[in-house]
Amino acid sequence: MEDSRKLAQAVHQKLLEFYGAPIWRNPLPAIDELVSTILSQNTNDHNRDRAFQALRQRFPTWEAVRDAPTAEIIETIRPAGLANRKGPRLQQVLQQISAERGSLDLSFLQAMSTEDARHWLLKFNGVGPKTAAIVLQFALGKPAFPVDTHVHRVTGRLGLRPEGMSAEQAHIYLEEIFHPSAYYDAHLNLIRLGREICVARHPKCPACPLYELCAYGQANCLKN
Ligand code: SF4
Repeated sequence: MEDSRKLAQAVHQKLLEFYGAPIWRNPLPAIDELVSTILSQNTNDHNRDRAFQALRQRFPTWEAVRDAPTAEIIETIRPAGLANRKGPRLQQVLQQISAERGSLDLSFLQAMSTEDARHWLLKFNGVGPKTAAIVLQFALGKPAFPVDTHVHRVTGRLGLRPEGMSAEQAHIYLEEIFHPSAYYDAHLNLIRLGREICVARHPKCPACPLYELCAYGQANCLKN
């Protein structure tokens, strides 16, 4: 574990030198981030944003989204894909939150510990570790390390997590080996690396700032 922490710190530093400190878009209220992240499942940011904006334009409030005929929600969020699944799931989460809290304001989570807030979010069907971590980190400013497909792939190649560990399991593991102060930057920079260099099919190892740290890259690609 100590070696993994050292490697995580080295990866974080190299990525900061290479990409600089990343900037996430303006933080959204927690309920907006939750809706956006549910829409993002199995699609890209562009399609997620199109569906989110369409919802915002068609319905004045999240209460209106919650109470609308499901067919209208499905039609509105089509750009995000899997609309027949995401529409009912989104409304169910909004209904459950309303039933429990009497409103859709999630700002009460701010006063909870990270683990209590995570636990609260995870009880809703359709909210997994990644969705919870995104809401915690980006809407509430709490230390959490979301693991998407890019983070999962890149950390696997780097040997930052055990081979075969699922993305769900990797949330807790990566939170152990990265320092909490590094979560935000490391998460975003690993995604960028995964999109631009450590791509799924043919990683561009010779151009990678992490080559010297990466056994996979050294074993599979010659630098020159
Ligand atoms: S050296 Fe290659 S495999 Fe390793 S992180 Fe970089 S691109 Fe990915």
